[in-house]
Amino acid sequence: MPDLDPFFHKINSWSFTRHTVWNRCPRQYYFEYIAPYVKTDPVVNPEKIRYLKNFTSKFVVQGQIIHDIIDQQIQLHCEKKPMDQDAAIAAFVKKVSLYKGIGGETFTEYHNGEKIQNSFFNYIEENGKTCLHTFFGKWPDYAGRECLRHETFDHFSIGDVGVTVKVDFATKLPDGTLVLTDWKTGRDDDEYETELQMAAYVLWAMQHYRMRPDDIRTELVFLKTGKIKPYSFFWEQLVEVQDMIPKEFADMNASYEYADFPARPTQRECLGCKFAEVCPEAEIARS
Ligand code: SF4
Repeated sequence: MPDLDPFFHKINSWSFTRHTVWNRCPRQYYFEYIAPYVKTDPVVNPEKIRYLKNFTSKFVVQGQIIHDIIDQQIQLHCEKKPMDQDAAIAAFVKKVSLYKGIGGETFTEYHNGEKIQNSFFNYIEENGKTCLHTFFGKWPDYAGRECLRHETFDHFSIGDVGVTVKVDFATKLPDGTLVLTDWKTGRDDDEYETELQMAAYVLWAMQHYRMRPDDIRTELVFLKTGKIKPYSFFWEQLVEVQDMIPKEFADMNASYEYADFPARPTQRECLGCKFAEVCPEAEIARS
């Protein structure tokens, strides 16, 4: 086993994001979560890996900007200050124009050789405005609820496996029901394994708030269309997830050798992969 910085073990936990990367490309998982902590004979210099981790896919940035703006507005509400739709949209447009001003230089795709077209910035501006209008249109349904937490990293355990979650918005209804809301900024058929993500939220909430699953509701709010998709779980379904997470975490940690993390290249994934520059299997056109 390679010698890893002890910090690796401190932050090593299961999360839905790790699950997604692990299943998408184990090599990408290695670069993202293990390579920065290899102390002896690293395959790639950890400094280089840390540098590459500063880039973000343009599609992730698009969602992040909207989430940040919404989160600032929710924070205002939680502090009992008025929300401001016009200011939120102006702040959003300004952020997009900052990225546009540097031609998307901090996007992974740009780093991997793609020229970011103006049409992309126009698209994210229009999409973002639509999402923010939907958010403010739906807000009256949320305004009367007790605000518990928003966009906070939380940790809990399943056996001896640490699990990290970040719920977009947790609220309590007047009847005591807990509602865990996730804002989605993409298409409303974009539901890749979302059930697993929501089930992990419920398992966290059961421990954190000491509540029964019957008293916890989860929902996806698709800000592009306004569609709301509720999820509820039987205990048997939660037990399945509770069994699956430690098994997958054991697989993720069965080895820390580079060779045990096979590359799974596809043009689409590799173009948006932070580590394409150092991955010999990357399927991108190199200039
Ligand atoms: S460049 Fe492609 S194959 Fe290599 S780690 Fe990234 S996604 Fe996987």
